[in-house]
Amino acid sequence: MNTDAQLMPQYTLRRSSRRRTIEIQVRPDSVRVLAPTRVAQSRIDRLVAEKTEWIRVRQQELRLRLPAAPASTVLEQGSQLLWLGEWLTLDIAIDRPLTRITLSPDRIRLELSRRIRKAHNEAVKEQLELWYRAQAQHYFEARVDHWSAQMKLTPAKVVVRSYRRKWGCCNSRGVVSFNWLLMMAPAEIIDYVIVHELSHLQQMNHSPAFWAVVGKYFPGYRDAKAWLNRRSGQLQWPPIAGL
Ligand SMILES: [Zn+2]
Repeated sequence: MNTDAQLMPQYTLRRSSRRRTIEIQVRPDSVRVLAPTRVAQSRIDRLVAEKTEWIRVRQQELRLRLPAAPASTVLEQGSQLLWLGEWLTLDIAIDRPLTRITLSPDRIRLELSRRIRKAHNEAVKEQLELWYRAQAQHYFEARVDHWSAQMKLTPAKVVVRSYRRKWGCCNSRGVVSFNWLLMMAPAEIIDYVIVHELSHLQQMNHSPAFWAVVGKYFPGYRDAKAWLNRRSGQLQWPPIAGL
């Protein structure tokens, strides 16, 4: 999922007489340009403008990775989990007859079956992830049905999977795929991604005609895109509390 042309990113410029080439350094929230002393400002601006989309994608990629989730992130009693834009407190009960997960207004309760042999921490993370993915499949199918009816655009199939750096995808066979991590985003953000991907069934590109379709059904799409650019780092598994 990309965006249409955006304003040129702001950058700081450092010139040096020893440099021979222009280099663009992208950080999650800033851009720095290193340039030879005598290169014209207009040339630097033009280069940055040309690279706008690349910079945006790169920043999104970096933000998705930040802060890096330590491999040892532990989900335990009282951990915070994001679900449809809300933080839920995790309750864990072990040694139960069955494994199941239930939601209440601000809690998510995981009961672990006494038959699970894995280390407790591993089982908690694994069961929650399985649950999120299963919920995502139902959720996306239901919302895709809803939007398909309005947009008169029906995908061949709805797939939920893991992507490192995109939220959704639509292929030429009409299969729409969604990143299950979106289950942590508010419902309207999920709706935006669905409308975006369904619009690709009509326009396989990000042309003005494509955005016109998106805008017709989801007038607030610019805000949703901005939200995703800004907050994508928060939608990661295992979750990072306190972001
Ligand atoms: Zn797209």
